[in-house]
Amino acid sequence: MRIILLGAPGSGKGTQAENLTRDFGCPQISTGGLLRTAIREKTKTGKKVEKIMARGDLVSDEIVLGLIQQSLEDIDDQKGYLLDGYPRNINQAKSLNSVLKSMNRPLEHTVLIDVDNEILVKRLSGRRTCSMTGKTLNIYFSPKAEIDECLNSGGELIQRDDDNIESISKRIDVYREQTEPMIEFYRVSGLLKVIDGQGSVEDVYQRLVSEIN
Ligand code: AMP
Repeated sequence: MRIILLGAPGSGKGTQAENLTRDFGCPQISTGGLLRTAIREKTKTGKKVEKIMARGDLVSDEIVLGLIQQSLEDIDDQKGYLLDGYPRNINQAKSLNSVLKSMNRPLEHTVLIDVDNEILVKRLSGRRTCSMTGKTLNIYFSPKAEIDECLNSGGELIQRDDDNIESISKRIDVYREQTEPMIEFYRVSGLLKVIDGQGSVEDVYQRLVSEIN
């Protein structure tokens, strides 16, 4: 399957991407994830983007295009791909189109996960990762038993550097200003499907699967 998941920060793209990868085998390419790895590994790119990401701005189109091209080349053509967090503006959407055309790997699905602002803020500000298991939890929504399981096994609840309130509101503004206008590009191409991203992870996943089946 060859698919793009679109949606605001906190809409659940990453979580649903993991479900699709598990069930359909398409490798997930997350530009945010690749950039965080670059920061952790202190690469040249990592050093360049660290501050930009921490304040919630987009990094340059050139950097993310390079990451996407490399990742697409690295994965097996037969398995398809799942893009999570890319493209995020019209210029990126146009570049992606040319790359996919030149690789002869056209898109099959573009799904927008739609979530209200208020819920986005709560999901992002409450998001934590268990340092022991890597599992994503939420201090507002996760069952107490899951939070305790992490803490009681010696884990810590780690918050992403850009999940503070200033960066969250900046990232949502950037999404409304730069990414939403790009969505029209996919609507016009006839590829866009929109699903309601509110409710449980399982419910949203069911909606997603019924759109792509
Ligand atoms: P995400 O993990 O998708 O929420 O992305 C986290 C951060 O990485 C964003 O706020 C941006 O700073 C950067 N980033 C991720 N993807 C892109 C992209 N396609 N274009 C520019 N910046 C990006």
